[in-house]
Amino acid sequence: MRKPLVFILLVFIIFLLIVIYEHDKIDEIDDYVEKRQSMVLNQLHSRDIIDSKVLQAMLTVPRHKFVDEHIRESAYNDYPLSIGEGQTISQPYIVALMTQLLELKGNEKVLEIGTGSGYQAAVLAEIVKEVYTIEIYESLSKKSEKLLNGLGYRNIKFKVGDGYHGWEEHAPYDAIIVTCAPDHVPPPLLQQIKDNGGRIVIPVGGIWMVQTLMKIEKIEGQIKSKGIIGVRFVPMIGHSR
Ligand code: SAH
Repeated sequence: MRKPLVFILLVFIIFLLIVIYEHDKIDEIDDYVEKRQSMVLNQLHSRDIIDSKVLQAMLTVPRHKFVDEHIRESAYNDYPLSIGEGQTISQPYIVALMTQLLELKGNEKVLEIGTGSGYQAAVLAEIVKEVYTIEIYESLSKKSEKLLNGLGYRNIKFKVGDGYHGWEEHAPYDAIIVTCAPDHVPPPLLQQIKDNGGRIVIPVGGIWMVQTLMKIEKIEGQIKSKGIIGVRFVPMIGHSR
């Protein structure tokens, strides 16, 4: 008589543990959803991010999965975070601002220089058809590729290399976004955007200088550029230095 009782008790305890575990998991998911909503409302919408596609993408991408476990709680805060190899994931506002400046409609092909954690690539992939992203550190590229594939993104292609030279094979691009700062605009990038309507958003400046976030447009083959705001990005390494 005893054995069945022990068995039932065991099954009950296991069932209880599963319920508690699942409940904790749901609590955690809800917690991040709330943090994400508050980030969009208080850091983006309350400033000057008005593009609904950008706001929706920032609401969707689970930013906490792009940083190490021990800093997950800070993932939605209003500042950049470290992602290893001395590199950083940009502050949410800067990611949103740069994406908004690209003026994306949805059917574009976009090139990103500086994959890093893969967060910016995910935000782009929520909005456009095709994303190409280049990272100079193989370790960061491979880690991001694994994460983004695991999250189900099928429209991002990865390359390890020096983004100064762009990715000629898939050019021309509707837009290029650069998330590390060279001290001049790399000429290959200017060549790889569409002649009419191609655009680049890029921070430009020397290592010890204030960098300027620039928006560059090519209209009927002519280059037009304007400075947007002062920013601080990690330097572009490789050929540009
Ligand atoms: N977009 C990233 C931000 C990464 S920080 C994100 O969302 O997390 C900038 C990244 O640019 C770093 O990962 C750095 O290694 C990379 N980088 C620097 N110089 C580069 C170059 N010449 N080509 C490609 N990537 C470069």
